[in-house]
Amino acid sequence: MSIKLPTYSFKIVVLGESAVGKTSILLRFHKNQFSTQLEPTIGASHVQKSINMTDCHIQLLIWDTAGQEQYHSLAPMYYRGARGALIVYDRTNYKSFERAKDWIKELKSKGSPNVRIVLVGNKIDLETNNVDTSEALTYAKENDMLFFETSAKTGEGIQEAFLALVKLLPKKD
Ligand code: GDP
Ligand code: MG
Repeated sequence: MSIKLPTYSFKIVVLGESAVGKTSILLRFHKNQFSTQLEPTIGASHVQKSINMTDCHIQLLIWDTAGQEQYHSLAPMYYRGARGALIVYDRTNYKSFERAKDWIKELKSKGSPNVRIVLVGNKIDLETNNVDTSEALTYAKENDMLFFETSAKTGEGIQEAFLALVKLLPKKD
């Protein structure tokens, strides 16, 4: 006997300053690959990923930016209907953490009212650490977000960050 599990589909967006590793995080999650030679403008505009949970199937449609984030003006269709977001900064670059806060404000004002957010500090494989973990964690807690530190290069924390986001998303039939 087989039991048919429900399938839920969600749109998710990945936001953050240019070069923090958004496309790399997607590539790691989607294909378990890493490349040092990604062009800023390369990257699918969206990627589909299926996840089998114990009680349901999840179909994720994950939107990446193809360089538009440099101009700080993303088309409304980018946010529209997005139920969750990964907001990424580069842990070697404090300014990118400040920019992450701006993206969070923008998403909250332009995006879905109940959008769930995971804050991601990427490039933890590098020695340089310019963003204090406790500062980022405190900021995330104050703003109702989960927080993960990741490396798209080694893969550390990537699955965990996406799965945590998926678990936050309300599932309705
Ligand atoms: P995006 O502009 O935010 O999409 O950033 P990219 O994914 O294009 O990455 C920008 C640069 O950072 C590329 O050279 C990547 O190889 C590099 N990069 C991305 N993630 C990591 C990481 O976790 N560790 C290291 N060392 N480099 C990374
Ligand atoms: Mg990119």
